[in-house]
Formats: sequence, structure tokens, C-alpha cells
Amino acid sequence: MRTRREFTAALIAAAGARGEVAQRKALIVDGRNNHDWRSTSPVLKRLLEQTGLFHVECATAPPDNAQLESFLPVFGSFDVIALNYSDFGNGGVWSERAKSAFVEAVNGGVGVVVCHAASSAFAEWREFNRITGLGGWGGRDERSGPNLYWEGGVIVRDRSPAKAGHHGPRHPYAVVARQPAHAILAGLPPVWTHASDELYDTLRGPAEELEVLATAWSDPAFAGTGRHEPALFTVRFGRGRIFHTTLGHDPAAMQCVGFIATLQRGAEWAATGRVTQTCPSDFPTERQLRLRA
Ligand code: ZN
Repeated sequence: MRTRREFTAALIAAAGARGEVAQRKALIVDGRNNHDWRSTSPVLKRLLEQTGLFHVECATAPPDNAQLESFLPVFGSFDVIALNYSDFGNGGVWSERAKSAFVEAVNGGVGVVVCHAASSAFAEWREFNRITGLGGWGGRDERSGPNLYWEGGVIVRDRSPAKAGHHGPRHPYAVVARQPAHAILAGLPPVWTHASDELYDTLRGPAEELEVLATAWSDPAFAGTGRHEPALFTVRFGRGRIFHTTLGHDPAAMQCVGFIATLQRGAEWAATGRVTQTCPSDFPTERQLRLRA
């Protein structure tokens, strides 16, 4: 008997043979965040739809924490789940049923895109942190795992005691590819200037099967660490592929074509394991910021 994913692959192959593009199913999860998810989820939805690759649905948690028991998206029926949800500062831990369904789906091969503040969610949920790889805030510290940064051409896993999660005032900054041959980055410039945004630092987590794709230098002039911090990375969890972007604080930062292209490519990679999108002609360069209205 074929698994659901094999069945989906067969459907897509059949559609390809007919010259059609079969869309993958994407789910945006929101309803809690210490960020304005009401303004960012529609942007995420539009950006995913613009690829032509995804049919996008939203699962919005009920506003009352007492009603969360009823929040049970059918995670396993999607190809990729974009997390725009955090209980940090709001409460809103999912039910055990929802948590199990999410872990089972990712373990079985459903992809995940972790969007900016979603990495602050569920500090005490061990499997979630294995899926997101690194996170900050929510009481995270050395017990959460090592702090990762790039130094001397390698990723350092620093286990010294410290709180996890910080950013200085927002500013434009350079994003530097560290795995330029990875499907998500292949064909993109090796360095580009990202729109004014928060630059996350001192993230910590289990960081198992984690590959840092790109870093950003955390400038002490903007209250940063003076280190090259992970900005884009991937995680593998069971059969699931996870793309984690620390970029995209708000709709203004999400106008950056560097954010847009890496989000779209990361979502495709998480859903399918490959990237068919080409580098946009308006992609930013090291010297030039590029925004889309
Ligand atoms: Zn933010």
C-alpha cells in the first residue's frame, strides 16, 4: 500500500505528464505571537501563492487559551507548514493531541518553515525545539542547548551559560551565504543586503542535524554580539525538512527581495526537497537593497 506522500508524488507526476502544475498544500499556523501575526500572515500567504507552487490555507488558533483544546489542524495532510505562531508572552501551548499530531506529521515527511518569532515558541516542548533547531527567549538558556555562531569558517557550538535570544535596534545588514551550493541558495548572490530588520543573536537549541546556510554579522554598534549569527538554516527531523528564517519581523522587512526569495525557495525545499525557482532579477546585491511594494 502506498503512503500518502507516495500517492501525492504519483499525482504530481501524472499532472506533470499532462503539462499541468499540481500545487502542493501549505498551511500557515497563527493566532498567537508577540508580533503582529494579523499583518504578517497575509504577506506570507501571498508570497507562497506567488510561486504558483502552493495552495495555502491558514489555521488560526482561537483567541481564548481555554479553547485551545479544540485547535487541532490536520498537520499530516499538508506538504509544508509555515509557523507564524508563538506562545511567548501570550500563553497558548497546544494540547497534547495537537503537539503529537505536529511531531508525527514532521517526522513522517511534512516540511516546516519557521518564520522569525516562531522560534521563540514552546521553550519547554522538547520535540518542537528539535524541529526548529534553535530558538530564543521564553526562559531559554544553556539548558536549551548550545549557542551557535560562525567563526573561522566553521560553526561554533558554545555551551557556556547564558540566556538565549536578543536583538538590537533594527537596521539594514548583510546576509552572507555559508552553503552557497545548497538548493535554497544556489544561483543567488553570495552576499546581499537585507532590509532594515531585527538581527537575532545568541540563539540556542538542540541544533541536531542543523545546517547553517547563511549568517549575518551582529554589529556591536547596534547592540550586537560582534559575531556572525545564523540567519537562515535547515534542520532534518525524521523524514521532515525544516527551513528556518530569522528574518521578517514585519511587513516592511518582508518587502526585501532577499527575504522573499529565500522564503519561497525554502518553502519549496521543505515541501519537496528541491528548488525549481530561479534567482529573481531584482534580487539585492551586496551594495543595493531591493524592496517590493
Ligand atoms: Zn521581531
